[in-house]
Amino acid sequence: MGEPTSARGSADLADLAQSSPRATRPISGYDIGMSQPTCPVCKVPLSQAGFTERCPKCTGAWIHEDALVGMMQERTSAMVFLPWQPRDRDQDRACAVCAKPMQAVSLGTVALDRCAEHGVWFDPEELASLLKQAKAFKADVKHEGSSEHHGILGSLAKLFGH
Ligand SMILES: [Zn+2]
Ligand SMILES: [Zn+2]
Repeated sequence: MGEPTSARGSADLADLAQSSPRATRPISGYDIGMSQPTCPVCKVPLSQAGFTERCPKCTGAWIHEDALVGMMQERTSAMVFLPWQPRDRDQDRACAVCAKPMQAVSLGTVALDRCAEHGVWFDPEELASLLKQAKAFKADVKHEGSSEHHGILGSLAKLFGH
């Protein structure tokens, strides 16, 4: 009958191990399998700065959504919810990681570009101005007695409390 399957299996495994592309070392600070992000505007490599990746040229910032929420929550000492709003696209920007076109979105008064998988691009000063508005994105979980439904907080209360 045929050849012993066990021998064949181990040969395949050895083959796999040899041809594995894992030889390349991950760049420090980045997850394995993620290439170094590049600036969607200048196309130069971004460098890590705390939770963000900064462009050395335009000083724009790339940040993963989870990290962004974390930063906002640190500012407000509260739960934060980000109500992404679609906006008119002024220019096509490619994701810093996967290079696919990003969604044009806004948060409060800040215009952003977003790849749902990889993160959000902030033009210079945009991240700072969003962080200044962080309190506006507090998730109003407790539902305070005097329910003044104004702007963002009003829609947040609807989303969370019902
Ligand atoms: Zn740049
Ligand atoms: Zn992406």
